[in-house]
Amino acid sequence: MTSNDSPKCDILGLSQPQMMSFLGELGEKPYRTSQVMKWLHHRFVDDFSQMTDISKKLQSQFQQMAEIREPEVISEKCSVDGTRKWLMRSRSGSAFETVYIPEESRGTLCVSSQVGCVLDCKFCLTGRQGFNSNLTSSEIVGQLRVVKRLLDAQLSGVGRKITNVVFMGMGEPLLNIDEVIPAVSLMMDDLGYGISKRKVTISTAGVVPGIRRLKETTDASLAISLHAPSDELRDQLVPINRKYPIALLLDACRDYASNLGEKRTVTIEYILLDGINDRAQHVHELIELLQDFPCKINLIPFNGFPGSGFKRPSTSSVRYFQEKLVQAGYATMVRTTRGGDIDAACGQLAGEVADVTRRSARYKKIEIQMAAQI
Ligand code: SAH
Repeated sequence: MTSNDSPKCDILGLSQPQMMSFLGELGEKPYRTSQVMKWLHHRFVDDFSQMTDISKKLQSQFQQMAEIREPEVISEKCSVDGTRKWLMRSRSGSAFETVYIPEESRGTLCVSSQVGCVLDCKFCLTGRQGFNSNLTSSEIVGQLRVVKRLLDAQLSGVGRKITNVVFMGMGEPLLNIDEVIPAVSLMMDDLGYGISKRKVTISTAGVVPGIRRLKETTDASLAISLHAPSDELRDQLVPINRKYPIALLLDACRDYASNLGEKRTVTIEYILLDGINDRAQHVHELIELLQDFPCKINLIPFNGFPGSGFKRPSTSSVRYFQEKLVQAGYATMVRTTRGGDIDAACGQLAGEVADVTRRSARYKKIEIQMAAQI
C-alpha cells in the first residue's frame, strides 16, 4: 500500500478498521480516522487538499498513495413513478446499474455488487448476460455516495432520503464477499452513511458458505431468493440449488438469524412465474417447507423481458398466493413493480454492458473460476 509503484489505495472503499490500519501505516494516530472518514462520506470531498483539518504533510502523502474515485455516471433515467436509474462505469470499463425507489415513508437504493452474474437463474436478465467482473468495495459504496449527492443536489424535501439499501441490483453479493463486507460496514457506520443495520439487506440466491461467513462479519439483514418450494423445481430455476439444496440453505439462514437478535428475521423472496411456481400446490408446499422457519415473505411477480419464456401471473393468482401465506401466519408483501418503464425493476438490470463484445478469454476465465468457487 505504501510503495511508490503499487496502485493507489482506493480510499472510499475502506471500512473504519481498514482506514485505521492504513493511517497507522502512515504513522497517524487513530483519531485521524474519524476526521478523514467524515470528509469522505459526510462532506463528499473529492480532493485531499479540501481536508482542511489534517496536516499538509498527510495531505501530500494521501495525494501520492491514495485516490478518491467515485464510479462515473454514464446516464440517468427517471420513471414516471419517481424511480431513478443510473448507469455507471466501473474501473474495469464495463457498465452497471443502480436504482433509487422513493416511497412515502422511505427511499430504497438498490445497488449492484458485480457486473453481470455467474449464477444463471432462469428468469433473470442479468444472468443471461453472464459474468463480467466484480465491483470493488469503493464502487459498491460509491453508488450510495454518488446517488446521495445527486439527490441532495437535484431534489428537495420528500422523496430524497436514502433510508434503505438492498443488494438486489446486478450480481451475487456473496460471490464478491470480500468487497461487499467493507462496503456494508461503511453503509452502516456512523462515520460512513449511518444506515440502520435492519435497513441494509444483502440478497443471495443461496451461496451457503457465504452466509456462514457473513455471520462472522456483519449483522446486516439477509434475504434469500428461494423462488421454489422443492429442490426439484428450484434445481431448474436457480441452478445453484444443485450445489446447495434448500435444506442446507434454510439451515444456514437459521444460523444467521440466530445472530440477529430478537424480532429480526430473514426475508424469503419468491418470484411468481405463471404456471411454474404459482399454483395452489406450490403455496401448500411452501407453507409446509417454512413451518417453524421464522421469516417474512416478499412475493415478486415476474418482471418480463424479451425472450424470457416466462409470464407474469394474473393479479388474482398473486392475491391467492399471498392470502394463503397470510392465513398460514406469514407476513407477506407483494413487491409492486417500480420503474418498469425504464427497465429498472427486479431482474431487468443488464447494465447495457459497454464491452460485452470484449467478453474475451479473460472474462471467460474469470467465469470459470467463479463457477468453480460455488
Ligand atoms: N443475486 C442476488 C441479488 C440480485 S437479484 C439474489 O439472487 O438474491 C434481486 C432479486 O430479484 C432476486 O430475488 C432475484 O431472484 C429477483 N429477480 C431476478 N429476475 C427477476 C425478474 N425477471 N422478475 C422479478 N424478480 C427477479
